[in-house]
Amino acid sequence: MSSDLVIVYHRQPYEEVTENGKTVLRENKSPNGIVPSLKSFFGGVTHGAWVAWKLAEDPANPEFEERIEIEDDYGNYSVSRLPLTAEQVREFYHITSKEAFWPILHGFKERYNYDPVDWANFRTVNWKFAEAAAEEAALGGVVWVHDYNLWLVPGYLRQLRPDLKISFFHHTPFPAADVFNVLPWRREIVSSLLACDDVGFHIPRYAANFVSVACSLFDVEVTGRGRVPDKWISEGTALTERVQPTMLEHEGRETHISVAPVGVNIDYIEELAAAEETRTKAKEIRQELGDTKLLLSVGRTDYTKGGIEQLLSFERILERRPDLKEKIRLMHVSVSANRNMTAYEQIQNEIEQIAGRINGRFGTLEWQPVTLISRAIPFTELISYYRAADVAWITPLADGMNLVCKEFVASRTDGDGVLVLSEFAGAAVLLDDAVIANPFSNRSMDRAVEEAIAMPEDERRRRMEALRQAVVETDIKTWKPIGFRRGGDKTFAAE
Ligand code: UDP
Repeated sequence: MSSDLVIVYHRQPYEEVTENGKTVLRENKSPNGIVPSLKSFFGGVTHGAWVAWKLAEDPANPEFEERIEIEDDYGNYSVSRLPLTAEQVREFYHITSKEAFWPILHGFKERYNYDPVDWANFRTVNWKFAEAAAEEAALGGVVWVHDYNLWLVPGYLRQLRPDLKISFFHHTPFPAADVFNVLPWRREIVSSLLACDDVGFHIPRYAANFVSVACSLFDVEVTGRGRVPDKWISEGTALTERVQPTMLEHEGRETHISVAPVGVNIDYIEELAAAEETRTKAKEIRQELGDTKLLLSVGRTDYTKGGIEQLLSFERILERRPDLKEKIRLMHVSVSANRNMTAYEQIQNEIEQIAGRINGRFGTLEWQPVTLISRAIPFTELISYYRAADVAWITPLADGMNLVCKEFVASRTDGDGVLVLSEFAGAAVLLDDAVIANPFSNRSMDRAVEEAIAMPEDERRRRMEALRQAVVETDIKTWKPIGFRRGGDKTFAAE
């Protein structure tokens, strides 16, 4: 079947679970998150398709079901599941994408690991994605490719299907040329992206960086620029830009550059926040805390998330401020997503060690300053913690957007709570009413938290009202990264 919209995203659009020895496809439990947001775009087309990979012991096994049809609340769509071996996944995803691309995208040159990369495998896997998308797309249809692990797909797809509208969205930061150009495959990657009709980013800085990289590698002309809207200017924060590129021309092809900060599902979060169960749980947490203030930190165990820097800041504050004994607690949720990777294992060990040291140095029988949680907390339960917290302390060293901070704000329908936010999270350009911190500066980190815990109620409420307004403005329902609207508007046009 030909599809008007083909979404190319490495994960499948549902959860695969085993029930009574049989594999069952289950709708993602939470309508929050990137997969349901992407699927909602199928509501605007006659038929959609999704291309993802699926682990296969033997990719040539004729019993492997490569293509299935789905009909669910989001519409009718087919899913092409590319059979990849565990070795192909390890090399394409865990090595090339996570050990070579990920540190560069986030500006950590020293963590970049080139040696184990099997570039031929990366090309092969990307080619498979491109072939599957080419097979699914209707004449003149839209193919929407997501994230850096599929960087070569647009170029291959353009060779296979010159008629298509191709769009690419980056969910990560995009670094400046001095960092990006560390990648030896830079020309191949950027040439592929320049085959797109549209390349999208969360914030103007990443778009500007991409354009500077493209100009450093090819004869590219910047044919469109615009002023960054005031709502995306957060005075004095590190990621703010004032002018953004909107159009590039290279070898006669025009590529639109779009900026669309991804948001959260506000209605769903507000509904959860109002639910009896959430309120009861939040009340229980508060009762247990008494008049102790709860600082909440939530993220994955990744060097980009700044978990270590945050714990060290907490330790310094407790050392310098004995008056805060038994007055504050930190709940540090650091979920290990990639247990089999050495870099993440080391961070996890260090986090456990620092948290243990803080509790050992400052704790009493009645008071444990840090509660460390390494397992994922179900989203519904997380909302109760957001509601109960006095301060959300979200200070990544680099983060494409960061949704946790937006979820915290969306859940605070009571209008209270303080957000301490890193100026290196994409979200900081929208949320300048947070207490902005620089996680590379001890003084800035410590000051931000001390300011947050001492903030008077009227100021907390004033800031939260402004934060809520900014989060509502980027509600996921208004996310329109490719000029392609839900609800039947099938135009593909630059904004
Ligand atoms: N999350 C969760 N339970 C946890 C920790 C995180 O459900 O214990 C969710 C969180 O609600 C958010 C997502 O994981 O929706 C993390 O998104 P974010 O953009 O902040 O960071 P990423 O992990 O994508 O870099």
